[in-house]
Amino acid sequence: SEVRVQQYEIAVLPGDGIGNEVVPEALRVLDVVSAKYGFEVGYRHFDWSCQTYLSTGAMMPDDGLDRLRDHHAILLGAVGWPGVPDHLSLWGLLLPIRRAFDQYVNLRPVRLLPGVTPPVRDKQPGDIDFWVVRENTEGEYSQLGGRQGEGTETELVLQTAAFTRRGTDRIMRYAFELARDLDKPHVTSATKSNGIFHSMPYWDERFAAISAEYPDVRVDQDHIDILCARFVMSPERFDVVVASNLFGDILSDLGPGVTGTIGVAPSGNINPERIYPSTFEPVHGSAPDIAGRGVANPVGQIWSAAMMLDHLGQPEAATDVVRAIEQVLGDQSAPRTPDLGGGAGTEDLGKAIADAL
Ligand code: ATP
Ligand code: MG
Repeated sequence: SEVRVQQYEIAVLPGDGIGNEVVPEALRVLDVVSAKYGFEVGYRHFDWSCQTYLSTGAMMPDDGLDRLRDHHAILLGAVGWPGVPDHLSLWGLLLPIRRAFDQYVNLRPVRLLPGVTPPVRDKQPGDIDFWVVRENTEGEYSQLGGRQGEGTETELVLQTAAFTRRGTDRIMRYAFELARDLDKPHVTSATKSNGIFHSMPYWDERFAAISAEYPDVRVDQDHIDILCARFVMSPERFDVVVASNLFGDILSDLGPGVTGTIGVAPSGNINPERIYPSTFEPVHGSAPDIAGRGVANPVGQIWSAAMMLDHLGQPEAATDVVRAIEQVLGDQSAPRTPDLGGGAGTEDLGKAIADAL
């Protein structure tokens, strides 16, 4: 029989703080799962971080983006450290990558894992299992606008949101395709067309137009205010939620909030056409308060690596990693990090997940 070995070249950027502790656990799991499924993953390490900023005045070298470009994907830990303002670390590394590689989808699963106690206590694993698809390049986060009459009684500040046909349609198509792929043919649109005069009615109009291309996918829409309430009160109702940049930003943190600990939540910044590499990173930051102690939860990073495998075209391997995570977290005798109420270390939990594979 034919043996097919596929080689993926991954750019690995652990970044700051606990990024350096959780990324090795993701690589440990990738090594095991790639051997199991017969493909090869190669890593190129980049040590760009706030440390780089403090010693060179930049988060990455001038040719940084070019050096990342030829990889199949980017696996990122966390960026940010006390002493370097957030906007410098963000604008110096994460945002240039997002922009240069047209990563217009921010994708986050919202799933209650076994062994994690959610703040809404009557929920069981299976009750909360959906995806937030956030538009990542335009919308409310625009630089259009400005100030008039500064310092006077008639001071006026305008902030303009920009929704293009191309930008709106492509994020919606991504959501519909994802719903089909997942066999969860249901998309909810986050809107506010009862309050926002121009952009949200347009958003609704495009949602209706794109949904007509997917007659097999059930649709509904909620205004962002009641949608937030429903994330908490009735998360069972959601499968795929598509949202603009601002609404998606809010929802994609509310999701991990509803499912328990920030330490387990993954994300992808995705260029669906695969013209450029996509970035996979945990939702959490560099956690300076626990960094260097070996106690960070590696699940968010490992699950991010699973999302990367799915994107690379290894869905069975990806599903297997998530299964291993669920198996270990659901086993009361398995190692648990302090955020999950245990006394185990980052490595113990990473090894347990690798062993479960
Ligand atoms: P950023 O701005 O980079 O998102 P942040 O200031 O929002 O960072 P985090 O670095 O995510 O915050 O940390 C928030 C809290 O969550 C901290 O108390 C941190 O210790 C905790 N935390 C974050 N990630 C983990 C993890 N993987 N395991 C355990 N605790 C974590
Ligand atoms: Mg944060």
